[in-house]
Amino acid sequence: MENRILGIHHITAIAGDAKRNFDFYTKVLGLRFIKKTVNFDDPHTYHFYFGDEVGSAGTILTFFPWGDRVHRGRKGAGMATEIGYSVPKGSLDFWVKRFEEHNVIYNKPSVKFGERYLTFLDPDGLKLELIESETPDNRTPWETEEVKKEVATKGFHNITLTLNEVAPTAFILTQVFEYKLVKQEGNRYRYATDAVDNAAIVDLVELKDEHKGLVAGGSVHHVAFRVKNDEILMEFRAKVEALGLSITPQVDRNYFHSLYFREPGGVLFEIATENPGFTVDEPLAELGQHLQLPAQYEARREQIEKRLASLN
Ligand code: ZN
Repeated sequence: MENRILGIHHITAIAGDAKRNFDFYTKVLGLRFIKKTVNFDDPHTYHFYFGDEVGSAGTILTFFPWGDRVHRGRKGAGMATEIGYSVPKGSLDFWVKRFEEHNVIYNKPSVKFGERYLTFLDPDGLKLELIESETPDNRTPWETEEVKKEVATKGFHNITLTLNEVAPTAFILTQVFEYKLVKQEGNRYRYATDAVDNAAIVDLVELKDEHKGLVAGGSVHHVAFRVKNDEILMEFRAKVEALGLSITPQVDRNYFHSLYFREPGGVLFEIATENPGFTVDEPLAELGQHLQLPAQYEARREQIEKRLASLN
């Protein structure tokens, strides 16, 4: 079991204004801010991580807030187009009321695959869903003053990829990641792994004539899948490479170790390890409270901090 893909590890998206992004996810949505760091390739841009108490794989949503001048992305084929969170049954009424109060754009709740869900947009136009999962979700949610555990998000339910053609991506999911087709409704194909109980679903939506999406503000940059450790990570590297796809060498992301490859449908996939986790550079109680820099930027901390927007 442990040498398999263990569902979603994290999802990374692009935002505009940093404080607006921080406020929305910590206050309105009630996620824990688990890490404040910088883009390792561009230390003058933040990299934010939101999740449950410890930043468990399958709960981690991360953002590069590129600032107000960010170009708006365009939804289309070859990208992840919806992020689905699992919420407790009966909680959608709370969320509708909350979205009303905070001027969040949402659709009235609907049903797909037998589950009630509520679609909404974050301040940058990123599309998310809250789904009342029909399968038990025993994960412990992070709780805030305003978003108590009876209604709080428990981590990812699924991710949706929009594609011109489902088959090439389905091949990767089934043949490399060991996912199986479990359900279909119209042009939506639901794939899931039985290696984990949660964050186990990838929906593929086929739109033959859809224009290519543009990844920029308000869109998903990549989807990361979880593996147990470095050894298994490298086994997957060999499997992807054997298909003739190009894949990066192992990259050290401080909180996990990663590989990146573009799946044939155009979506950037990452495979990431559980180790070492988010307590590697600050204690659990203080996660997200201090700016954490990778070693190569420590010497420039003062200058970097000065150029990053305040979140207060
Ligand atoms: Zn990533």
